[in-house]
Amino acid sequence: MQTDLAIVGAGPAGLSAAIQAAACGLKVVLLDEQPVPGGQIYRNIEALAATRPAQLQWLGPDYIAGLTLLRRFRDCGIEYLPLAQVWQVGEDGRVYYRREGAVGIVHAQKVLIATGAMERPLPVPGWTLPGVMSCGAAQTLLKASGLAPEGRFVLAGCGPLLLLLAAQLIRAGRPPAALLETSYDLWGALPHLPGMLGLPAYLLKGLTLLREIRAAGVTFHRGVTSLKIKGPDRAREIEFESGGRSFKEAVDLVFLHQGVVPNGNLALSTDIRHQWNDLQKCFCPELDAWGRSSSDTVRVAGDAGSIVGAVGAAAMGEVAGLTAAADLGRIQYAELDHRSAAARRVLARHRAARPFLDRLYRPQQQWLAPTDPDTVICRCEEIRAGDVRRLVAAQNCPGPNQLKSFMRCGMGPCQGRLCGLTAVELIAETRGQTPAEIGYYRIRAPIKPITLGDMAALDVPSRHDAINT
Ligand SMILES: Cc1cc2nc3c(=O)[nH]c(=O)nc-3n(C[C@H](O)[C@H](O)[C@H](O)COP(=O)(O)OP(=O)(O)OC[C@H]3O[C@@H](n4cnc5c(N)ncnc54)[C@H](O)[C@@H]3O)c2cc1C
Repeated sequence: MQTDLAIVGAGPAGLSAAIQAAACGLKVVLLDEQPVPGGQIYRNIEALAATRPAQLQWLGPDYIAGLTLLRRFRDCGIEYLPLAQVWQVGEDGRVYYRREGAVGIVHAQKVLIATGAMERPLPVPGWTLPGVMSCGAAQTLLKASGLAPEGRFVLAGCGPLLLLLAAQLIRAGRPPAALLETSYDLWGALPHLPGMLGLPAYLLKGLTLLREIRAAGVTFHRGVTSLKIKGPDRAREIEFESGGRSFKEAVDLVFLHQGVVPNGNLALSTDIRHQWNDLQKCFCPELDAWGRSSSDTVRVAGDAGSIVGAVGAAAMGEVAGLTAAADLGRIQYAELDHRSAAARRVLARHRAARPFLDRLYRPQQQWLAPTDPDTVICRCEEIRAGDVRRLVAAQNCPGPNQLKSFMRCGMGPCQGRLCGLTAVELIAETRGQTPAEIGYYRIRAPIKPITLGDMAALDVPSRHDAINT
């Protein structure tokens, strides 16, 4: 399949890019592994509005706002491939995907990676026990199936999504027994307050969520340390310290969350340059103001570029879609300037607000590099924090790629998505270096599991053919 622009990801960024690029006359193919468009924030919104409209109120006005974007997307007339898992993007513009049991390739002049964000894991003792899930998983069940947790459960961690989920569950009639906040630094965030003042509605939203949580009588512990989940067979008890006191609570379920970071494996598997973002504590692609990367073909928009939130992601997608049209000669650069001006203003406001939020909820070092030696950090290969620290010290292991060879950390089915940043922090701390100096895993395609049969079925010229022609 030939196209001008291939977009990976049907969240606010990918959808907005598709709408703008199509409006400029570009042939666009949009691929997403989910069955319906919307991304993380607007997951399942069309079906929910049609079949369970009362539940829209649980999820709140930011969720409902997505209906307008989805309507515009449905009218924009591009080729949309749901359930298409993209496992490789080539420098030559080939996008390899798996869909309904078959593999396919889109040949694109430009490729926009808009794969969004993922939750940063919170590796604490007991986080791999049955009955422990991420807050994102709880929210996915709520959006996709209208399911809310039963029994006595707590939410633990930090970040706006923790508060949002608590409020959404309260509205669904299932309030958490307690909310345990692990990182919150108002004094550190205050110098960045002027940037946040450009989005007063967001400040108000945060305060409203807190009010909703308090009004529901949910116990709120701030400054939580020494968090442990216990139970021989599944999560039965949670232990922690807060305000100089020790707590033990019986639980049926625990939901963890420690902010979000770019869902970066696809971008990392291309050769585009990345850099360490110290405020967001993760690696991000190096992008210009228009979403262009160090490659002429590959661009990145939305949270996959750096965390900017849903409205910022949509604005960044608009800019990237229009830029692709300008770079392919469908609109003049003067027109790009003009047509993208409003989106660039929105994006600038959202980018200016980020440092306040990033600093307010920046995970403390004890959660980034677990101090308990028995805490599992790589779930796929069951590697513990103490194993990594010991090996780094004993073998002078310089970085995560060597860690892979020495102990298989990051070699499992998730390809380092879950352990990557923790491994980097542990190595950096043990060696007395910065994460920027340590670097990240070298991610290689396929970034999603595919079979050898899938690869063999691909209609690509082999090296042998190329030599003989
Ligand atoms: C679990 C979770 C829940 C969140 N909930 C909220 C919320 O309720 N409210 C809020 O304001 N913010 C929420 N966020 C933050 C939010 O994701 C964003 O700010 C916003 O959705 C970012 O938009 P985006 O277009 O960049 O990416 P996303 O909306 O994340 O969309 C990315 C899309 O890329 C697709 N994708 C990823 N990799 C591949 C691949 N290899 N092949 C094919 N498709 C792929 C995904 O299926 C997804 O649809 C959430 C984040 C997470 C991780």
